[in-house]
Amino acid sequence: MKNMKTLVYIDHFKGDVQPASWEALGLAKSFGTALAVVFGAGVHGVAQTALEYGADEVLVADDSALTDFRAETYAATLASLAAHGSSSTPDLILFPTTTRTRELAAMSAVDLGSNVITDATGMEVNGDKVIVTRPIYEGKLFEKVTSSGNPQFVTIRGRAFPKPEPEAGKSGTITKVEAKTDALTTVEGYSVAEVGVSLNDAGVIVSGGRGVSNNPSLQPPAGLDDKQAEIWRAQQGFALITELANVLGGAVGASRAAVDAGYIPYSNQVGQTGKVVAPDLYIACGISGAIQHLAGIRSAKTVVAINKDADAPIFKQARYGVVGDLFQIVPALTEAFKKKLGK
Ligand SMILES: Cc1cc2nc3c(=O)[nH]c(=O)nc-3n(C[C@H](O)[C@H](O)[C@H](O)COP(=O)(O)OP(=O)(O)OC[C@H]3O[C@@H](n4cnc5c(N)ncnc54)[C@H](O)[C@@H]3O)c2cc1C
Repeated sequence: MKNMKTLVYIDHFKGDVQPASWEALGLAKSFGTALAVVFGAGVHGVAQTALEYGADEVLVADDSALTDFRAETYAATLASLAAHGSSSTPDLILFPTTTRTRELAAMSAVDLGSNVITDATGMEVNGDKVIVTRPIYEGKLFEKVTSSGNPQFVTIRGRAFPKPEPEAGKSGTITKVEAKTDALTTVEGYSVAEVGVSLNDAGVIVSGGRGVSNNPSLQPPAGLDDKQAEIWRAQQGFALITELANVLGGAVGASRAAVDAGYIPYSNQVGQTGKVVAPDLYIACGISGAIQHLAGIRSAKTVVAINKDADAPIFKQARYGVVGDLFQIVPALTEAFKKKLGK
């Protein structure tokens, strides 16, 4: 097997690193030499953490022009780093799969005349190429592909590869590299704050569907029309789901029906047109189990379903099922976990 030289892009939002970046670093180390790449402003802490997670060297572009993620500046900086003939030219560039890295990987691959394989769940080295396993047809099949590009660009799915154990205080080489700062766009603000446990990295996800609004005994405040009353009821349902997720240290997910009805933002949607997740535990509350929803949870290790309808298709996917009203079952579960976990 060739000793591969891999650049690993450490994806972070204001210093908060997407944990799959460390999984990518561990994977790169198993292939040979792993150089972590950190972009931003004031990112010394991220660079130091990359050393602790095993990077052989960290390449840092620290520049105020890189404070906010913009695909043009980040892609130009990465492409110049990886350009043929430069001292850091790699065989492979690895990214965690996120919304940002899909754009970044694609743009920098175009700059280098290469291409991108996204969402890898398995990888092996064969000669001077990597062979990537990735899910297709909504996760029903897996294909093995390789890229003719040089360097090869691959994004990996979160929680598909083991995370290395960090070694606190580990020292190593941090090398400053130049930022390419020309950009046609500026970032004016963020409409969605990245807070709480991210769905992509969550070990536990508690999700709600259309059923979270189905509690006719809840009396909404006066003056709401039918749609507003439905949303108000759904908010009470999602408050219960959020409480259970918090007690378990998990994230909150949703079906597309819940998102389309305006109960919760799209960023929480799980499924074919939402996020594909791989938690250890997925608790589906008031979700029927449509094929497009199941496409997002095929890699979940244990699925628990809570649904009033004993014939709901979600029970076919679930290891444990509770037939009942989520407005009774979810608070009872929260209380039981609080006691069990001493919270
Ligand atoms: C191209 C395409 C892409 C799609 N992508 C996605 C996607 O990414 N993600 C996704 O989720 N869907 C997706 N869908 C939609 C999908 O087909 C379903 O319509 C959707 O998943 C249904 O959501 P739901 O289960 O919340 O709602 P429903 O199917 O209406 O189910 C609600 C469930 O709640 C139960 N329930 C009601 N009240 C209670 C209560 N009080 N306690 C307990 N249970 C209760 C009911 O028994 C029922 O099973 C897509 C569809 C298409 C065509």
